[in-house]
Amino acid sequence: MSSSRVESSNSTGNYLGIDVGLESFYTDSTGKKVENPRFLRKSEKKLKKLQRKLSKCKKGSNNRRKAQAKLARQHLKVSRQRKDFVVKTARCVAMSNDIVVIENLNIKGLVRTKLAKSINDASWSMFREWLEYFCQVFDRKLIAVNPNYTSQDCSNCGQRVKKSLSTRTHICSCGVRLCRDHNAGINILNKCKNSVGHTQITQEYWGNASGQMSLFCVDENHYTKFAG
Ligand SMILES: [Zn+2]
Repeated sequence: MSSSRVESSNSTGNYLGIDVGLESFYTDSTGKKVENPRFLRKSEKKLKKLQRKLSKCKKGSNNRRKAQAKLARQHLKVSRQRKDFVVKTARCVAMSNDIVVIENLNIKGLVRTKLAKSINDASWSMFREWLEYFCQVFDRKLIAVNPNYTSQDCSNCGQRVKKSLSTRTHICSCGVRLCRDHNAGINILNKCKNSVGHTQITQEYWGNASGQMSLFCVDENHYTKFAG
């Protein structure tokens, strides 16, 4: 989704780390949670209902044909609503921040584990693509960091606090108590900040103002161009 469209946008001075989760669409390093909109959840529920209904219809029957047509329409509705939400959200994130840090996630692996049974998986890969697009448009930096231990480590003292998926709060002996995803969001942002200094990144890795290189993977101090 590369584009020559670059809009002039002022620097915001904001850096944001984003954690995709089971409960919310994402939680960021400021603690803000962005939920899937109610209309989308409602449409998706209806989609599941129509799928169940179709499976009960006799093959070759008129009812089955009708159910199939209804299901197809609902599929289209859901994908349009999902895209609409994702595009708006990605645009807003890119507009309001100079640097956006995300996890370099293997979406397929993620669907099996972290986001299993969640409707977020499809939206998240689309979200990432649109983030790449809008970060180019607004001349922002999108950084992908290694996702290891982002939800386990304490964002305040660095201590590893093991927790299962069902543990929703990060509680550390250093006194920090945070929502699990908020803690992860801060860790994601810190992984970018700690890897190399901001100035160094700007000079050596972040390319030119045309936004040719907007997404980098940060992994153990090695940078690779991810997309551009
Ligand atoms: Zn701690």
